[in-house]
Amino acid sequence: MSARKKVLVLGSTGSIGTQALDVARKNPERLEVVGLAAGTRAKELLAQAQEFGVGALALGVAAADADVDALRAQAQSRTHGFFGVGEQAVLELIDASGCDVVVNSLVGAQGLRASYGTLAAGKVLALANKESLVVGGDLIMPLAHAADACCPTWGQPAEFRPEGALMPIDSEHGAIYQCLLGENMAEADRLWVTASGGPFLGRTREQLEGVTAAEALAHPTWNMGAKITIDSSTLMNKGLEVIEAHHLFGAPYEAIEVVVQPQSAIHSMVEFVDGSVKAHLGTTDMRIPIQFALSYPERWDSPVQRMDFRTLGSLEFGAPDVDTFRCLALARAAGMQGGTLPCAMNAANEVAVAAFLAGGLSYLGIADCVEAVMGAHDVRPVEAIEQLVEVDARSRDAARDYIAAYSS
Ligand code: MG
Repeated sequence: MSARKKVLVLGSTGSIGTQALDVARKNPERLEVVGLAAGTRAKELLAQAQEFGVGALALGVAAADADVDALRAQAQSRTHGFFGVGEQAVLELIDASGCDVVVNSLVGAQGLRASYGTLAAGKVLALANKESLVVGGDLIMPLAHAADACCPTWGQPAEFRPEGALMPIDSEHGAIYQCLLGENMAEADRLWVTASGGPFLGRTREQLEGVTAAEALAHPTWNMGAKITIDSSTLMNKGLEVIEAHHLFGAPYEAIEVVVQPQSAIHSMVEFVDGSVKAHLGTTDMRIPIQFALSYPERWDSPVQRMDFRTLGSLEFGAPDVDTFRCLALARAAGMQGGTLPCAMNAANEVAVAAFLAGGLSYLGIADCVEAVMGAHDVRPVEAIEQLVEVDARSRDAARDYIAAYSS
């Protein structure tokens, strides 16, 4: 038995974070949780720290004194304890926790910094933070390739057998990763990224006009956080995943197709030059891709419900309706143009989704806002994280201005 992998979970109280901890809970002989960071939920963070006996802790945002004191006491009760509050403290956990693997499920630009810091420190990055690749793919992927010489990209006549420096946690990218394993990357022809289609599959623009936040939050197949659930309903999430797939596997955008697969039984597919297609199937349980990211290159038993093909029924497929769900087309356009445009697009979308959830923007207004901010953005090559943070801030301002004008 090899030594246990030491895991740091950033964003431990969120949807991916709690499921990552569940994977750790079920694999105590293989995984040791050594650090935890949460944004605001101090009490939940403390409960997690106590359950897993963790002394390296950080809270992204200041909390009540009593909660902060309790977390500090927890850190001091452990050898090599560490506790801090603020964005810098979260990043310091990468070194302070003594981890081997970082599960990055932070939200926003802080997630990009954490991904960069993880790979720069020579640790494995199990990635759930979308901004890291959507916004910062041009910065992250060179680091990942430097850390993982065995990870060839699209079109290279070499076997795809990565050391695993960057493990995608998303179900689609985990699926593509597994379909490509052992294959010659010069023989891969097309990636088929599957989409559930969300709760509004088949609706027209007119039918989407009065959609409420509660309707959009009812996702048919996957159980996720609020922001990503809205992104799934607008197909923005799929657009972000197309950009991520482009960076992760080096595939050109022309070789990345989106197909609606409403049952979410197929998590994505790879088509090869001879026309053969490999698909990855499984139960819609995020703990499977999370566990694969942590177990690779091994596979471990998992207590999740197995798929029974005898009762699965039919699998349906369809083309996404990009005229109705314009966010998918906008994201793809942003990715194809590249540079700082995906950063501007992503920032505008975050502000628009928050405004929609708060009742300050219509459902269809999300795409309009994203399009307006993209249209006004002066695209530059990506050079540094600080530059992206600036573009992000300016694009958020532009989105807020658009929404204020729209609602007045
Ligand atoms: Mg996904």
